[in-house]
Amino acid sequence: MNKVQQAAPVAVVTGGSRGIGRAVAVALAKQGWNVCFSYVANAAAAQETTASVIAAGGRALAVKADVASPEDIRRLFAAAFQEFGRIDALVNNAGIVGEPRSILDADDAHLTAVFRTNVLGSFFCVSEAARLMSTQRGGHGGTIVNMSSAAARHGGMPNEAHYAASKGAIDSFTFALAKELAPHGIRVNAVRPGLINTEIHEAHGGQDLVNRIGPTVPIGRAGTAEEVAEVVAFLCGSLSSYVHGTLVDVTGGR
Ligand code: NAP
Repeated sequence: MNKVQQAAPVAVVTGGSRGIGRAVAVALAKQGWNVCFSYVANAAAAQETTASVIAAGGRALAVKADVASPEDIRRLFAAAFQEFGRIDALVNNAGIVGEPRSILDADDAHLTAVFRTNVLGSFFCVSEAARLMSTQRGGHGGTIVNMSSAAARHGGMPNEAHYAASKGAIDSFTFALAKELAPHGIRVNAVRPGLINTEIHEAHGGQDLVNRIGPTVPIGRAGTAEEVAEVVAFLCGSLSSYVHGTLVDVTGGR
């Protein structure tokens, strides 16, 4: 076994300070991964994630880095590589809903903010990660999990075409990457959560909305961040070695 095979695998999780990203960081740490995660504003929440990752048995590195900024993303991956010496997985999780807005009132700044974060941010992160993991560039391969949404196929909540369409782009991105990155030793999949009980819903009704829609889900409730994280961790690891170019719905049947 060489040095790379012996060391614990390392994941970069964007938006790991809260919600699904935090649950992914902890789930990976429980499975023996070290985790570098990004956040954009909430340093206290990032500290809590760091403590949870360490408690779960992993090493943690929190980096304040906006996925919408290519410079921040370069800094994020440089910091991860400097700290851990390798990158084995990217979980492209950071995302925003944006304020609900009818298409009749479409606004350049609003659309740009959502698409820069949800779509361009994912492109920037994959570009950096793929350069480090590519077997054609001296890397040892790896996995990418993109965070899409069931909204990509059902159109999302009222007045959120911007969000649904940004996640539709993530689905297409995943299919294209699976073809492009397989020769580089990189497996790519996406997870499409349904209604998951996190703070993202503050954008459109918060806990009231979750409480109202939860019972209409076929399984009878909203999902938890941990229920999504287990699937993401499976897709990051070797147990999913022949799963590639796939969208995995985690929706309670919705
Ligand atoms: P959340 O609870 O609002 O957490 C969002 C996380 O992303 C936070 O850690 C936040 O950092 C970070 N973040 C936001 N904008 C960022 C940026 N520009 N750069 C870096 N980090 C940023 O959201 P969530 O519900 O866990 O959602 C995570 C992902 O799952 C998103 O892509 C979302 O679209 C997707 N998803 C969620 C649901 C759901 O029902 N919850 C359903 C389908 C898909 P700070 O703490 O610093 O703010």
